[in-house]
Amino acid sequence: MKIEDVVIVGGGPVGLFMGLCLHHRGIPFTIIEKRNEIISGSRSLGIHPVSLELFTELGISEQFLSAGLKVERGHAHSGEKLLGTINFTDCQQPFNFILLLAQSETERLLKERINEIVPDSLIENAEVTALDQQDDFVKLDILIDGKSHSAETGYVIGCDGKNSFVRDALGIHFRGEKYPDTYVMGDFAESTEFGKDAVVYLPKEGLIECFPLPENKRRWVIKTDAYVENPTPKLIADYISNRISASIDPDTCTMHSSFGVQHFIADRFIVDRVLLAGDAAHVVSPIGGQGMNLGWIDAWHLANVMSFCRGISKDLPIADMFVYETKQKPMAKKVAKRAELNMKLGRATSFPAVKHQFVKSLLKSPLQNKMAEFFTMRGLESWWI
Ligand SMILES: Cc1cc2nc3c(=O)[nH]c(=O)nc-3n(C[C@H](O)[C@H](O)[C@H](O)COP(=O)(O)OP(=O)(O)OC[C@H]3O[C@@H](n4cnc5c(N)ncnc54)[C@H](O)[C@@H]3O)c2cc1C
Repeated sequence: MKIEDVVIVGGGPVGLFMGLCLHHRGIPFTIIEKRNEIISGSRSLGIHPVSLELFTELGISEQFLSAGLKVERGHAHSGEKLLGTINFTDCQQPFNFILLLAQSETERLLKERINEIVPDSLIENAEVTALDQQDDFVKLDILIDGKSHSAETGYVIGCDGKNSFVRDALGIHFRGEKYPDTYVMGDFAESTEFGKDAVVYLPKEGLIECFPLPENKRRWVIKTDAYVENPTPKLIADYISNRISASIDPDTCTMHSSFGVQHFIADRFIVDRVLLAGDAAHVVSPIGGQGMNLGWIDAWHLANVMSFCRGISKDLPIADMFVYETKQKPMAKKVAKRAELNMKLGRATSFPAVKHQFVKSLLKSPLQNKMAEFFTMRGLESWWI
C-alpha cells in the first residue's frame, strides 16, 4: 500500500474536496475511507455561491451546475399570506443563487473527479484504527479488509466527521451542546405554486420550510415539539395541513426522517502534524444548510496554508500552519451563530403577529440585501453576524 506524505482520514464530502484542493496546490495525498459506498440517506442539499466559486477554481463547477437546481428566490410566509421575498439574483454574479443537490450526488461527483485526476489516491474499505504522533512523522494503523497495516506519513488531516477518531486520538475536546429543537423531513411530489423557489413558513406552532428538488419533487422540513422516532409520511402531511394553508400527498413520499440539532467545536484544529477539517472540527445546526460548505472553506484555506508553508520548507513549519486555526475557528463560530439565529426565528411563538410584522419590515427594508448575504454565506469575514 502506497501512502503519500499527507493522509486524509475520511472520504466524505470534505475529505474528497480536501484531496482536490491539495492536488490543485501540487501536494500529493492519500484518502483513507472506511466505507466503500456512498450513504444514500438524505443530509445536505444547499451548495452556496462561495463553494461554487471554489469549484470554479478547481474546474468542477460545470458538473455540479448541470446536476443541481438553482434557487434564486426565497419567500417568507405566515402560513396564510406572503410576508416578503429575498432575491438572490441581486447578489454577486455569476453565482447569484443557491444550488440544490442531494449530498449523495455531491459525494458521487467529487469521488468521480478524484478517481479521474488522481487515480489510486482514494483507498476505500479502509479504517484508521490507531494514530501515534512522533517528532518527524505520524504512525497510523489501518484496517483493510480485516487485515491491519502500519504506515508512516508526514501529516494527517482528520476529515472523519462529527465522531472523529482522529480528534479523539489526540484528546482534543469537542465543546458544545444539543439544542432542544427537533425536526421531521420528507420529500414529496410538488404540490405548491412556488416552482423553483424556496419557502419558509412561520406559523405559531413553529417553522415549516420547503425546497424544490429535481424530478418535480419538494423537500419539507418541519419543526416538532419533541424528537419523533419514526415519522410516517402521513404524520408529516398532517403537520403541514394542521399548521398552514398547504397540503401534500403522503403517498408520493420518497424519503422521510427526523433529526435533532447540535453545535460543537474542537478546542484545537491543529496539533503538531495533525489537523482537523469539516465536521471533525465543528458541527453546526443544519437549519440554514451551511455545515458542509463550511468544511469546504476549511479545506480550501488549509490547502493554501500547506502550499505556502511548503514554499518555505519541505518539512512544513508547523507554527506557520497555525494560521489555519486562527482563521477557520472564528468563521466556524460565526456560521454556528447564524444557524442558531435561523433556528430561533423558526421556534413556536405565542405572538406570531409580532414575528410576522418584524419579518415583513425586514424584507421591505434595505436590510433585505444583508439577509440575502446571511443566507448565502457571504460576509463571513465582516463585523456583523
Ligand atoms: C439533516 C441534515 C441536513 C443538512 N443539510 C446541509 C446543507 O444543506 N448544507 C450543508 O452545507 N450542510 C448540511 N448538513 C451538514 C452536512 O451533512 C455535514 O456538514 C457534512 O456531511 C460533513 O462532511 P464531512 O466530510 O466533514 O463528514 P462526514 O460526512 O461525516 O464524512 C466523514 C467520513 O469519514 C469516514 N470515516 C470516519 N471515521 C473513519 C476512520 N476512522 N477511518 C476512515 N474513514 C473514516 C466516514 O465513513 C465518512 O465517509 C446537513 C446535515 C444534516 C444532518
